[in-house]
Amino acid sequence: MKNRRLTEIIKRLEDHFGSNVRKSARKKKNLLDVLIAVKLSQNTTDRTSHKAYLNLKRRFAKWEDLINAPLQEIKKEIKVCGMAESKSRDIKAMLREMKKNYGKLTLNHLRRLSDDEIYEELLGYKGIGTKTIACLIAFGLERPAFPVDTHVHRVMNRMGIVNTTTPEKTFDVSNELIPVESKTTFHLNLIKFGRSVCKAPAPLCGECCVYDLCNFGQKQYYKDRNKGKIKENNFIILENI
Ligand code: SF4
Repeated sequence: MKNRRLTEIIKRLEDHFGSNVRKSARKKKNLLDVLIAVKLSQNTTDRTSHKAYLNLKRRFAKWEDLINAPLQEIKKEIKVCGMAESKSRDIKAMLREMKKNYGKLTLNHLRRLSDDEIYEELLGYKGIGTKTIACLIAFGLERPAFPVDTHVHRVMNRMGIVNTTTPEKTFDVSNELIPVESKTTFHLNLIKFGRSVCKAPAPLCGECCVYDLCNFGQKQYYKDRNKGKIKENNFIILENI
């Protein structure tokens, strides 16, 4: 029964937001570019993190150049996306360690590894967590993956698909529940849905395409309160790196 409900939720969100994960026009994405873009996207909007990413690419012709740059210079380029201090430090330290470990700055060897091996390897780098790695797998390697950010965590719990206290726990439980072929699309659709309908402070339950399938105890209250306030936000930058 629970799986039938989940299947129906996945289907309705696909009907509403689409079911195609955009494949890269390029044959293979640069995995290090994607990893850095994901790192910059933490706790900010897609628009500002994309700006920070483009600033970095413009300033440093090769990622090797960033390793030797003063922290202040890196911070200046990415300050638009917030947490510039910690992001600069983490990216610089991560690149330095990768250079030491691999001899050159490339993550091409990850293409030969299983997902589990990729998690195991990249979790060893400071500032790289499961969400970041799942994004790399989904948008860099274009394999099925279900990254869990705050939107995904919130919506999955409100709907009653999971009952968890942290995005990490939601990630663990969800990966068992969600059919492999639906993972990346469902992730993208939950983000779009979480930004435009099932919003953090006040969900627009009156506009919700899965209202009858949702277990949220206050859905009737929010249905009455927020009628007609839907706003689309479909800008997903990681599909474009
Ligand atoms: S009914 Fe409300 S709480 Fe439930 S999924 Fe829809 S918008 Fe979110």
